Amino acid sequence: MKLLLCNSCEDIVKLSKTTRTCQCGATGGHYKEDGVNAVYYGNATTIGFANSEFKYALANRPRYGSGVEFTAFVIPDNVPTITHVDIEDYEEVVDYYWDDGFDDMMEEAELAKKQVKLKNVFKDEE
Ligand SMILES: [Zn+2]
Repeated sequence: MKLLLCNSCEDIVKLSKTTRTCQCGATGGHYKEDGVNAVYYGNATTIGFANSEFKYALANRPRYGSGVEFTAFVIPDNVPTITHVDIEDYEEVVDYYWDDGFDDMMEEAELAKKQVKLKNVFKDEE
């Protein structure tokens, strides 16, 4: 799992297949379609979680006592899987139809909105 640490506002944002930005908006990024390679802009430090350890820690959350440790690491400046671009060159990825399994109702609302817009377009042409 890759995350961005914004060096301005210190927000940490998990990358996704659509663009996510930090709280101050100075940094943002997304995973490419392959879900492995990522693109980001702004003054950010990229952070990685060791996925298998993180999953294990989540699945084994103790009720009391110490937490379950997992490995997080600062990703080097130059790795082939992460591309840094200037904000002017960054192409935002917005996909309201990305299925993360939670947004069925949102999708229906967006579709309804689009249909209203389409009707309005036809109205203008009359
Ligand atoms: Zn920020």
